[in-house]
Amino acid sequence: MMNATPNTLKRKSNSRVVLAENSGFCFGVRRAVDVVEKLIAEGNEHIYTVGELIHNPTYLKRLEKKGVNICEETDIEAVANKYPDAVFVIRAHGLKKEISDFLSERKLRFVDATCPFVKKIHNIVSENSAPDIPTIIIGDKNHPEVEGIKSYARGEVFICSDENELEETCRNIPNDEKNGPVLVSQTTFKLKKFENCQKFIKKLYTNPKIFGTICSVTENRQIEAGKLASTSDVMLVLGAAKSSNSKKLYEICSSLCKHTYFAETAEDVPFDEIGKIFSSNFCGNFTAGITAGASTPDDIIEEVKIRMANEIVINSDATTENENPVIKDTMTFEEMLNASYRSIRAGERVQGVITSVTQTEVHVDLGIKHTGIIPYSELSFDPSFKVEENFKVGDKIDVVVVKFNDAEGIVSLSKKRMDVDKNWNELKEAYENATVLDGKVVEAVRGGVIFQAGPNRVFVPASHTTLPRSENAPSEEDLAKLVGEVGRIKVIDINEQRRRAVGSMRAVIREERKALQTKFWETAEVGKTYSGVVKSLTAYGAFVDLGGVDGMVHITELSWKHIKHPSDVVKVGDTIDVFVKALDVEKKRISLGYKTEETNPWTIFKSKYAVEDVAEVKIVNLMPFGAFAEIVPGVDGLIHISQICEQKIQKPADVLSVGETVSAKITAIDEENKKVSLSIKALLVPEEAAEEVAEEAPAAEETEA
Ligand code: SF4
Repeated sequence: MMNATPNTLKRKSNSRVVLAENSGFCFGVRRAVDVVEKLIAEGNEHIYTVGELIHNPTYLKRLEKKGVNICEETDIEAVANKYPDAVFVIRAHGLKKEISDFLSERKLRFVDATCPFVKKIHNIVSENSAPDIPTIIIGDKNHPEVEGIKSYARGEVFICSDENELEETCRNIPNDEKNGPVLVSQTTFKLKKFENCQKFIKKLYTNPKIFGTICSVTENRQIEAGKLASTSDVMLVLGAAKSSNSKKLYEICSSLCKHTYFAETAEDVPFDEIGKIFSSNFCGNFTAGITAGASTPDDIIEEVKIRMANEIVINSDATTENENPVIKDTMTFEEMLNASYRSIRAGERVQGVITSVTQTEVHVDLGIKHTGIIPYSELSFDPSFKVEENFKVGDKIDVVVVKFNDAEGIVSLSKKRMDVDKNWNELKEAYENATVLDGKVVEAVRGGVIFQAGPNRVFVPASHTTLPRSENAPSEEDLAKLVGEVGRIKVIDINEQRRRAVGSMRAVIREERKALQTKFWETAEVGKTYSGVVKSLTAYGAFVDLGGVDGMVHITELSWKHIKHPSDVVKVGDTIDVFVKALDVEKKRISLGYKTEETNPWTIFKSKYAVEDVAEVKIVNLMPFGAFAEIVPGVDGLIHISQICEQKIQKPADVLSVGETVSAKITAIDEENKKVSLSIKALLVPEEAAEEVAEEAPAAEETEA
């Protein structure tokens, strides 16, 4: 079934070191290792893998040096109590259900790096077993993966390590005509042995539920290793002594190649012995094959490959090829089916159904035996994208095939790449239809900014941003200040070849302003009130933005009092209520009023006082003929010198001073000239005398308003 040409180091055409194509970290292990490396890179201080991350002491020592510790299941609570920030990593083998539940219930920090293939077995067992449906697991009962699988069963569980044990076990499992038992295997179990177990179960039970759960990585690795071993003079299996998949590879290879060696690192490889075999056997053809278990790091494989080449090869020249599968007439139906699966190509657009959403990726059923995997990094361009809010099990999803790995049984997928197409079409449509897109500035780049409109990134040149126009190009700091600004753009140019779009924020603002102006002039009329923002101030008035249209409030219209500058009343940025005093539609000019009758001091005075009323007034000015006193802000009255006191005085300052507050009677109001006469004396003399006084007092000729 394997049609790949492995990595090959050649010296002469007939002597070579061949590395099996699928050697070293499998998909599941690499994924778990990546999780840990990421946690290290993020600076997490207390990282604990629950059990050994991989069965490779050399690699584990390296991790330990980086501060990654191993924690047994029973120690999780103690570690969490000691280090509340501890983060636990569930390794590729998975965990027992109760331990996973404990981590969740206690709300501890953990990353689940259980291999999707193992997770699948958990689901199979949990969904298909029942209190009256037993589960048979073919595998090593002491292996943590098997212990984990066992914990998901809902009925009795039997673990058998081979056909003989299975036969023995089945004596105790009666045939239920309708259901069961459930049969699964450890992912790394030997394929041939499991096939025999399946045959046996099929013969014995009417309706067994059999699931082929050997991971295709293991399956293919074993087939590939067997093929390589059968054509090699020397075969080397790299792996740790505790690694069950490495041990199985050794078992297979040693049955096909008499010079098969097992080693964990380059130090363990008997190069001398291999050299002797090479020398004694060499007659023009010599092949040294290498395969490696799923937990063997790349650098160990590489070192062994090179040292092996140096033993038997002087010059090395590595080549890698990957042939496409070919469907041949001689194939069985299953082989043809498998070969046809492999016809999925990188770049293909496919639809699948989400089968699970983990902490690191989304798994997709593509309707083939291979599992589709979308890493989080390939889900969305939006940095704030929340996976769990957007995807759930059972959803259909369109994706692009990034890499098809038949040997590992996975298809790497990308939703982002799918979105790129979709987004590009959306951008093109927006360009053609002049659609306005909402979004925000996410990045300052050379010469402009990047505007994120939904999933689309659009370049906005500096001159099309909201920065004020200027002769000089905006500085990097100016552009950086725009990051985070929410706004709208119009796509103003498209480069189909480079798939780049150029947008303008300014164009949208300009058009929106134009629309507002049209609406304003259609509805504006004298007397209409608006709320506007003060845009600028000049010596003669304030310019106010009424929402697309600017009007001016003349300085005399800002206050009833005399003011020196508009800034005495308003400042730039103030929101003020104004009304239209005059319009010139042709010249598009508007005169605005700000001061109103309600704020007119004379109106306020009139609403509060009448002749004969007594007011508390403040002396504001002293003249030879009398004193001016403020009655309300903006309205002063005159207290004639004769009305200040009963005695004759030389000048008002003899008895009054500026700033002093006195009680005074309003003796006359000149409505036409807005003048008020006041008298302090009227409050001091008897009433009949006061009447005389009123007659004597001059008629408020010198008062001012
Ligand atoms: S061998 Fe297979 S099941 Fe096991 S971790 Fe690797 S990919 Fe997953």
